[in-house]
Amino acid sequence: MDITSENDQTLVSKFGEQDVDGNFPQTTFSANVRRKNGQIITVEIAGSTPVDINGKPALISVWQDITEKLRIEHEIMALQAKLQEQAIHDPLTGLYNRLFLIENLERELKQAERTGGAVSVIMTDIDHFKAVNDCYGHLAGDEVLRHFASIMKDYARCSDIACRYGGEEFFLVLPNTSLEVACERAEQLRQAVAEHPPQFDIRDIPITASFGVATIPHNAAVSSTELIGKADAALYQAKNTGRNRVVCSTC
Ligand code: GH3
Ligand code: MG
Ligand code: MG
Repeated sequence: MDITSENDQTLVSKFGEQDVDGNFPQTTFSANVRRKNGQIITVEIAGSTPVDINGKPALISVWQDITEKLRIEHEIMALQAKLQEQAIHDPLTGLYNRLFLIENLERELKQAERTGGAVSVIMTDIDHFKAVNDCYGHLAGDEVLRHFASIMKDYARCSDIACRYGGEEFFLVLPNTSLEVACERAEQLRQAVAEHPPQFDIRDIPITASFGVATIPHNAAVSSTELIGKADAALYQAKNTGRNRVVCSTC
C-alpha cells in the first residue's frame, strides 16, 4: 500500500505491545493514514505477533482500505435517520403527523395515570378553509397551512406535541397542563391566528380557526381515542356556535 511512513512508529508500538503474560496479542484496529499522494484514508490493520525473519524481528500485518466501506455506512445511517424523521413528520408543515401523535399521546396518558399528572389537548380546525382554496387557489391554501403551523410551533412549549392531524386540522398535546390553562393557551392561539394573516402573492389571506379543548378526568384512566373524541366534540360545538372560538369540554 502506497502510504507514507509517518504512522510507522504508532503501528509498531501498537503491535509490539505485550500483555501482562508477556504475550503479543493478535491485534486488529483501524487508523487514518496518509497515502503518498497526500490523501488520508482509513485502514483496518490486522497484525500478527512479532516473528523472526532471517534472524531479524519483524511484524506481519494485513491492511485493508475501508474508507469507501465507512463512507457507505455513514450514508446508510444518514438515510435511515432521514427516513425515521420523515415517518413521523408531515412534509407540508414540518409538524409531527398523526401516527406520532397517537403513539406519544398514549405514552403521556400512561405516565399521567402513574403519576396522577394532568394532560390536556387542543384540537383545532381552520374555518372555511375550502373557501380559501376556492378563492385564492390550492397553493395559497398550502401556504395558509404552513403559516398556521408556524404559529402553532411558536406557541408550543418544548414539552408540547404539535401535530397536523389531517387536512386543515391540527392538534396540540399539553402535558402537565390543566383544562383551565389549556383553554387560555387555545384562546391565545385563536387570537394569534386571527391577528396575523398569512400572505400569498403579497395579499393578506384573513383566516380564523375553531378550537376544542379537553383534559383527562381526575383519577380515571382514559384512552387516547376517548380524549381525542372529547376534543373533537368540543371543536364540533365551536363550529356549530359560530366558529373562531374556543370551546372547553366539560365532561
Ligand atoms: P369548516 O369551517 O366547517 O371547517 O369548513 P372547511 O371549509 O374548513 O372544511 P371542509 O372539510 O369543507 O374543507 C376542507 C378543505 O381542506 C377541503 C380540502 O380540499 C382542503 N385541504 C385538505 N388538505 C389540504 C392541503 O394539504 N392543501 C390544501 N391547499 N387544501 C387542503
Ligand atoms: Mg375547516
Ligand atoms: Mg376539517
